[in-house]
Amino acid sequence: MGLLNRDIELRLDLTDRCNLKCIMCFMGYEAGRDRTRHFDMTADFFEEITAEILPRVNILHLSAGYEPLLNKDLSAILSVIKKNNVPQVVMTSNLMALTDQTADLLTDGYIHELHVSMDAADKTIYEMIRQKSDFDRVVSNLEKINHLKLSKKSKYPKIVFNYVLMKLNFSYLKDFVDFAGSLGIREINCAEFRVPYNYQKDLLPVGSRGLPADFDLADQHIDYHSPEVKKELIETVKYASDQGIFLNVPYKFDVNGAGKLMRRKKQVAHLWEKSSLMTFRAKMAFGINYLKKYPTYRKVSCSFPWRQMILTATGEVLPCCTWSGAPSMGSIHEEPLAKIWNNEKYLRVRDGIRNGNYPEACKQCIVGMRKRHGI
Ligand code: SF4
Repeated sequence: MGLLNRDIELRLDLTDRCNLKCIMCFMGYEAGRDRTRHFDMTADFFEEITAEILPRVNILHLSAGYEPLLNKDLSAILSVIKKNNVPQVVMTSNLMALTDQTADLLTDGYIHELHVSMDAADKTIYEMIRQKSDFDRVVSNLEKINHLKLSKKSKYPKIVFNYVLMKLNFSYLKDFVDFAGSLGIREINCAEFRVPYNYQKDLLPVGSRGLPADFDLADQHIDYHSPEVKKELIETVKYASDQGIFLNVPYKFDVNGAGKLMRRKKQVAHLWEKSSLMTFRAKMAFGINYLKKYPTYRKVSCSFPWRQMILTATGEVLPCCTWSGAPSMGSIHEEPLAKIWNNEKYLRVRDGIRNGNYPEACKQCIVGMRKRHGI
């Protein structure tokens, strides 16, 4: 059965471009980068580098940070993916660059989940966070996709919102639930805000689109242990749930458990709830391979290096998307992806996590510290 060995979640970039300059993204702080040279994945190159690994991929994410709709070869790349029968294909986009042609592609069943990055239903706040964006255009593009799905009687793509939770937009979350509901969107993923590894305050576009002159991104962390924050989150999760919307607040915090990390049983229940977006084949592959690797998973605080690969636009491979700026596991320009998956560096990271000897890049991560929290 082809699903037996589909045990890898692969996340990759199809380009190294983005049309926005969001204040919480590392791209806004790449001072000195040569912007005249770009990388765009071609379908031939995509087929070549993923030939060995794609038959092992259960979930394929088409974006590790950059904007996939800017890739000119998208249609041919999606055909390669379809040929390999990948069970779950997820695309993350800001949806600004949607054209009639890409809207058609997205609703033709190539993409199962479309994650749209939006961080407020308030035009001013949204455009302040996502500099260079246009709130009205994104809303109209969402409506276009909904309309096409309806006319093609297609259930794909299932649309999910990605909301980076910061002090700036925390109080707008409840309104955003209503906004999602008005578009028939049933899931909102709130990502925990992290200051980009290359952040420089003097590169913030202060004054642009209302961003206050004294604004500092480093002050945008939310204190998830504060009673007010917990109360607000619990109420908002409930408010969303009453409307049939799954509001996924930073997953390692159990909002019903006084801000503690989630216990494993709750994590599984949480994963199950999220799996409503997955195709039947993806659920089967995920379940089979989860059970196969369970003896390992039950002993470690973080399972990412056993099930996930990130391929950046420069060809570097990372075990986790929070590793930006940290040493990579290898480069596809030197070693095939399938070899990198079990090369010495990957094995060393797995050993380190298994033995509580965390790699440097994991030391600040609360998932990696679960054992130190005693759960
Ligand atoms: S411990 Fe944290 S940083 Fe390390 S691989 Fe897991 S999620 Fe990523």
